[in-house]
Amino acid sequence: MIELEEAQKRILDRLPPARPEVVALEEAAGRVLSEPLVSGLDLPGFDNSAMDGFAVRSSDLALATLQKPLPLRLIGKIRAGTSPHDVQVGTGDCVRVFTGSALPDGCDAVVMQEETVPSPGDAKNILFYVAPKAKENIRFRGEDVKVGSNIGVTGVRIGAGRLALLAASGAAKVSVGARPKVAFLATGSELRAPGTKLEAGQIYDSNRVMLASLAAACGAIPKVLPVVPDEAGATRKALADAFAEADMVVTSGGVSVGELDLVKAQFAELGGTTDFWKVSIRPGRPFVFGEYQNKFLFGLPGNPVSAFVTFLLLVRSAILRWQGQTNVSLLESSEKLAETLTNKGDRRHFVRVRRDEKSGGIKASGTQASHTLSSLANADGLVDVPPKAVFTQGQIAKVLRWEV
Ligand code: AMP
Ligand code: MG
Repeated sequence: MIELEEAQKRILDRLPPARPEVVALEEAAGRVLSEPLVSGLDLPGFDNSAMDGFAVRSSDLALATLQKPLPLRLIGKIRAGTSPHDVQVGTGDCVRVFTGSALPDGCDAVVMQEETVPSPGDAKNILFYVAPKAKENIRFRGEDVKVGSNIGVTGVRIGAGRLALLAASGAAKVSVGARPKVAFLATGSELRAPGTKLEAGQIYDSNRVMLASLAAACGAIPKVLPVVPDEAGATRKALADAFAEADMVVTSGGVSVGELDLVKAQFAELGGTTDFWKVSIRPGRPFVFGEYQNKFLFGLPGNPVSAFVTFLLLVRSAILRWQGQTNVSLLESSEKLAETLTNKGDRRHFVRVRRDEKSGGIKASGTQASHTLSSLANADGLVDVPPKAVFTQGQIAKVLRWEV
């Protein structure tokens, strides 16, 4: 049995470098940059108005007040998207502008519409009630991003905000790490697919749909394969078929110590090598990691919560690193405990928790057995409680989060 960090490191150390591929920007959300990106443009690309109002020369309005407004001659209009170059602004002139309108030459401030009125009887003269400061209400060329400066580093996952930045700088394509194809096998003669009739002793498979959704959320291309009965030949064939079409194979069930726990033996039979088996965590101890023809086996325990937790702690990071992502840790937040969490055992316990609406603190989301799905469905985080530790009510604890 090895420690979690050791297991995580051994897996990441085995993975090949990410394989770059070029995708259209519309396909790039959630992908991982495989090269640094620099902006081809200044952002903003030109000085422009931050308001609907009037572009002015601030020196013309130095003496404007509420009591003594000053008039300027309205000589033109610049809509957002049109060139400012046909407007020549002189002393005493102003120009109608809108948010995003390019600033005409000669103007150094924009006065918002609300601080002006047209002169009574003369719409071509605008009265200004305030003296603007130079540069007021102007968004300057390059103040956000300078041409040639960095807008994304290798290994960063492209979120919606970065996608907008890349689009604004004119990137139509980006180079990202290829996504791994991940096959999902559920082993167990008791398992049936939802939608079919259950006979005595049978249960519905809940792991494949759960794991495939977790995998998709971190960028994998999931391939859900049929349920595998607990028979040596069927297990070996299912593994061979899965490896034929995937970069990683994630199995659930059949990795414990029972006589029907066939995954490890049949993986070895096929020619795979096991790197490690058993990790010192709860839930999820019987986890196996191995390699076969430069592809990887992640053998998860069958109990659904154990499968969920081992996926989050050991498979998710591998899927992200496969794509080249640098930081593969789960998101964390610090939260106050609304109740005491105790771990009497000798393995770290990843306790399912959720926010308690009344106190705003964190509580266990229900019974913590490794087959209880209601407490998993209600959980929005996990707290890692060390062996023999007590985290007391009121204490701040680190809560681990996941994507879906
Ligand atoms: P195993 O790891 O194969 O010994 O399975 C441990 C427990 O998890 C048993 O009660 C199984 O019936 C259950 N189990 C295994 N695979 C699944 C699955 N895909 N969906 C739901 N329960 C499962
Ligand atoms: Mg089983």
